[in-house]
Amino acid sequence: MHQFDAETADLLRAIFDFTGVRLGFDPVPLDGPATPAELSASAGRTITADGIGGRRALETFDEVLSRACISADHPRNLAFIPAAPTRLSVLFDVVVGASSIYAGSWMEGAGAVHAENETLRWLADLAGLPATAGGVFVPGGTVGNLSALVAARQATRARLAAQGRPMPARWRFVCGAEAHSSLYQAATVLDADIVAVPTGEQGRLTGPLLAAALDDLAGQTSQAGQGDPAAHDGVFAVVATAGTTQFGIVDDLRGVVDVCRDRGLWVHADGAYGLAALAAPSARPLFDGIADVDSFIVDPHKWLFAPFDACALIYRDPALARAAHGPQRAGYLDVLDSAANWNPSDYAIGLSRRARGLPLWFSLAAHGTRAYAEAIETTLATTRAAAAQIAARPELELVRPAELSVVVFRRLGWQAADYHRWSDDLLREGFAFVPPTRHDGETVARFAVVNPRTTPADIEAILDTMG
Ligand SMILES: *Cc1c(COP(=O)(O)O)cnc(C)c1O
Repeated sequence: MHQFDAETADLLRAIFDFTGVRLGFDPVPLDGPATPAELSASAGRTITADGIGGRRALETFDEVLSRACISADHPRNLAFIPAAPTRLSVLFDVVVGASSIYAGSWMEGAGAVHAENETLRWLADLAGLPATAGGVFVPGGTVGNLSALVAARQATRARLAAQGRPMPARWRFVCGAEAHSSLYQAATVLDADIVAVPTGEQGRLTGPLLAAALDDLAGQTSQAGQGDPAAHDGVFAVVATAGTTQFGIVDDLRGVVDVCRDRGLWVHADGAYGLAALAAPSARPLFDGIADVDSFIVDPHKWLFAPFDACALIYRDPALARAAHGPQRAGYLDVLDSAANWNPSDYAIGLSRRARGLPLWFSLAAHGTRAYAEAIETTLATTRAAAAQIAARPELELVRPAELSVVVFRRLGWQAADYHRWSDDLLREGFAFVPPTRHDGETVARFAVVNPRTTPADIEAILDTMG
């Protein structure tokens, strides 16, 4: 058995006490931000030549630092896309940390990678991708989207090269106007142009809108209609959003996929938030067409009850991703490279990696997939209840019908400053975290419900503060 000195054993108990107390709260304290000056004053100097000792460092975290971090899993935290990791996933995160697993390669992390792959398989099956599909857990949707787009462009380049065609002057990818900001960042990193198709009132990219936008792009280039369209208009991918962050809108996946099939374009589905709802029977029809995408992402840290940070990135044909991302070449890495080995680092940007899919794997293995379906259905029901409550209050008005688990609404008569004052007050009181958003230049209120512990009574209590 491992031998601990008394001090380490004491610290181990203290850390588990902290973890147990944190997980035992119902609800957890919401907490809230502080200024650097306040934190310096309360925490004092923590980095010193001699060290302050584990006990004191833990106390500083417990009493000062952790309290200046908003609890993403508080049931009245409905901001952005919050989080709601299961207790088991959080506990297993501790095990992952303690296990010192290098999960970039099969050789070093086979057991962990095997369990991650089984978890990815569950997601690929929910989407209806073939048995040959596969991928990797990356830190977040931003890296997932970028990695998929890198693979898509590489596949297009390889195809054009095989046809002996010249490369386009500029590369482009197409998405709907409501697509996530991370795609704009991806365009910058790729040095590619992003073509955001206006989606009007509906906010939804459809097959006809996409086809018209692609025709328009082809019309702007000289040799339109001849040979591989990528060679002249430079379009290498279309990104469909399966659950926009602002409104929860799911693009017309079937329509988008059909247009892309006709034109030989890679379709990537950004489901960082929304594709979790594939696990919920009532929401599945929204995602018709997902089985035909070339790649998709979904963040377990958003609506799949896992801790930060994890995004599942899955490719229909992983060989195309491997052609873009792996293997990194270095004499010391040669021993890892074998076609028989599934090296996660071959499928995304990054080399060293934490086995960040394991907290989800453990919780999923322990609870079973049905519990996940039920938990997501619970959040959907809470969202419907919230929308009904808003519709029933004369001073409130839905901006759009609720989609997935997002509700956006206005308080009649309020200006931007009223929303901000209201939201700041609720956070200061430790009651709720509900920052406003902006839609068409108007400041409005927004709830995103991913926590099965958020109840209709929580929503009612928050709405009562807007009266
Ligand atoms: C959150 C989100 C992202 C970015 O994911 P991160 O994990 O925050 O990097 C991308 N797309 C959509 C639709 C999202 O909701």
